[in-house]
Amino acid sequence: MRDVHEVINQYWDKVKEHREWFHRHPELSHEEAGTAAYIAKVLKEIGLEPKTNIGGYGVTALIKGRGPGKCVGLRADFDALPVTECTGLPYASENPGVMHACGHDTHAAMLLGAAYVMNELKDEFDGCVKLIFQPAEEDAAACGSKAMIEDGVLEHPHVDAVFGQHVWPTMDVGKIGIRNGAMMASSDRFFITIHGKNAHGSQPDAGIDAIVIASQVVTALQSIVSRNVGPLDSAVVTIGVMRGGTRYNIIADTVELEGTCRNLNPEVRNKMPERIENIVKGVTEGMGGAYDFRYLRCYSPTVNDPKQFELVCDAIKETGGDDLLVIPENSALGGEDFSFYCEKRPCAFWWLGCHDPEKPFFPIHSGGFYAEERALPIGMEVMVRSALKYLAQ
Ligand code: MN
Repeated sequence: MRDVHEVINQYWDKVKEHREWFHRHPELSHEEAGTAAYIAKVLKEIGLEPKTNIGGYGVTALIKGRGPGKCVGLRADFDALPVTECTGLPYASENPGVMHACGHDTHAAMLLGAAYVMNELKDEFDGCVKLIFQPAEEDAAACGSKAMIEDGVLEHPHVDAVFGQHVWPTMDVGKIGIRNGAMMASSDRFFITIHGKNAHGSQPDAGIDAIVIASQVVTALQSIVSRNVGPLDSAVVTIGVMRGGTRYNIIADTVELEGTCRNLNPEVRNKMPERIENIVKGVTEGMGGAYDFRYLRCYSPTVNDPKQFELVCDAIKETGGDDLLVIPENSALGGEDFSFYCEKRPCAFWWLGCHDPEKPFFPIHSGGFYAEERALPIGMEVMVRSALKYLAQ
């Protein structure tokens, strides 16, 4: 077997160029036509036969090894966010108000890199690699992974396992985090409308004040995490939107609330819709109002398979020694649609440290977010080594 590290070096300039192109040309979820076309063009250049428009703008390609065997999926997402970039990078976004603020530019570039390397090594492994370039990760209500799965991405040929990664700015370059079990939380959304009754602001007794009811609802919802979730479980109930009222001297008849729930434990998650609705019902009806409630189950928790976890740990150590591997104590409460592959196949997902401790810190989804380019060859190598290890079993 040729030295993986050397083969990666051979393609590094191209990967860097792809990363910069993606970063310059960010596209929002469901609008990634240009990015998908670019990916397909690069895959064709290396002699692959990409399939396009899978579950939206998804692109897949197959790299066949020397003989029959398993099929391993490698996945990267490639959509961007409605954020205005302020990194000052020479290859900053040229699409105003849109930015690769979640690092999906690096994910796509690393997967193109892995494609070069696996294609170069195809006479040295059995089975095949399915490259999964996935759009619309950021749209929790209509995410790309679900759409690609529904469009058959895990079949023809049958994909046995999937690996994916995310750049992670709370970890420095030279560290990779992976856990046995939950990596990322479920992410659900809910919508509440409180209905009261209009009245003149000077005559509160003639109306039903939806703003006062909504305020009590928001406060009461805080007791779910503190009183209904076990102290060793984690959960988040956040109200991010509160919208109501028309004028300073009119009792508001409608208030809209929107929020998100995050959970790591499916049992705790399943309790959430009922707990929230009971509180909304009790408080609202107790104060004379009425309500509408809608709960949308979006991302499931991203849970690593124990065997694939072990395999990736070995791949990480082979890439950069024991120092590269970090087993974080806690999972993150962010959501990730990689979870839907995890529900269907044994999968593993890891966090690729991408922060330079000498530079200021910016979280993902912020306009200053920047993933150090030095992290990319490390992520590519772990991806390639994981795939090779999986196929060699
Ligand atoms: Mn992301």
